[in-house]
Amino acid sequence: MINKKVSLYIHIPFCERKCNYCDFLSFQGTMERKEAYLSCLLRELQSWQQELKDYQVESIFIGGGTPSVLEDSQITRLMEQMKDLCVLSPKCEITIECNPNSATLDKLRAYKQCGINRISFGVQSFEDKELKLLGRLHNKEQGIQAIEAAKEVGFTNINVDIMMALPEQNLKSYENTLNQVINLKVPHISAYSLILEPGTPFYEKEEIKKLLPTQEEERALYYFTRDRLQEAGYHQYEISNFAKEGFECEHNKVYWQIGEYLGIGLGASSYFKNKRFSQETDMTAYITKKEFKKAFLEASEVTKQATMEEFMFLGLRMNEGVSKEVFFHKFQVELEQVYKDALQKGQREETIEVLGDKVRLTPLGQDVSNYVLSDFLL
Ligand code: SF4
Repeated sequence: MINKKVSLYIHIPFCERKCNYCDFLSFQGTMERKEAYLSCLLRELQSWQQELKDYQVESIFIGGGTPSVLEDSQITRLMEQMKDLCVLSPKCEITIECNPNSATLDKLRAYKQCGINRISFGVQSFEDKELKLLGRLHNKEQGIQAIEAAKEVGFTNINVDIMMALPEQNLKSYENTLNQVINLKVPHISAYSLILEPGTPFYEKEEIKKLLPTQEEERALYYFTRDRLQEAGYHQYEISNFAKEGFECEHNKVYWQIGEYLGIGLGASSYFKNKRFSQETDMTAYITKKEFKKAFLEASEVTKQATMEEFMFLGLRMNEGVSKEVFFHKFQVELEQVYKDALQKGQREETIEVLGDKVRLTPLGQDVSNYVLSDFLL
């Protein structure tokens, strides 16, 4: 009987055009490149067949880049391969990331047909001016149409990504975006603040920096998000994630709770068999690879101390916090014993609260999470 659980992340590194703020591993690609990449992905998956026999797959996330730039037949092949090689749990959550301009009705139908049951749309804003500045290829109308199309095809589990703290964004324009996404009745919303990453066009432009909201304004947008979404029936289960009852993203929870996951594709990271490792990031080297498991074979096992730190770092990002019982079960030592000082300091400063079995950040702690989490380094 299989009692181990794993999640799969599949990286599709292609986008139609690079957005002005993006530092993800993504770029444009010809039809031939995409096809060569897909066959390489399938071979990489195949190479894990033996190890995967001991596992049931609890969730799959096809992310990027923009997976919806691939042909629907390519996504179908990928899904067929996974179904052939792995034992999928009956409730396996299978997400694909889509951009509104490339998620056509036909593609969405094909996704549904091949077993994908969750769509995540990179919408970011429902204000045309903001979308243009970000370098996105869709407009407000296309954002709405794509979400409606996914519903028409029968998807009920839909996420929409939105962004705050954009250049020239103000409370009014952000409220329009937030209201629009609430009116569309999607059950899951991820709301992130823009971060200027080195090497992106935004980072290089002084005039963009001048248009950004101040830190106080950014915080105000965050509080507004929390309140407005709570009012609309979403509960916040992680610093940036909000869901209607029963629609939390199972795949993300695997990362936050240090479950095992295997990343397949260019640059994909894994935590598998107590090892952390990442795949090759150079495309030419990746598609000519013969041995896909080199990084895994060469990685050393993660130490108990590093796992404890990650367990706290990631677990405290979730509103429910971390369970003392789960901590003990995982590490055979009491959480209070390992983190006595950090807990006392957090409680004194009102950034941490201990409620029965749970240790979690207070709203104040969420606000200064980087500061609080640094106390959990051993
Ligand atoms: S669509 Fe997403 S991954 Fe692609 S360039 Fe834009 S932000 Fe980056």
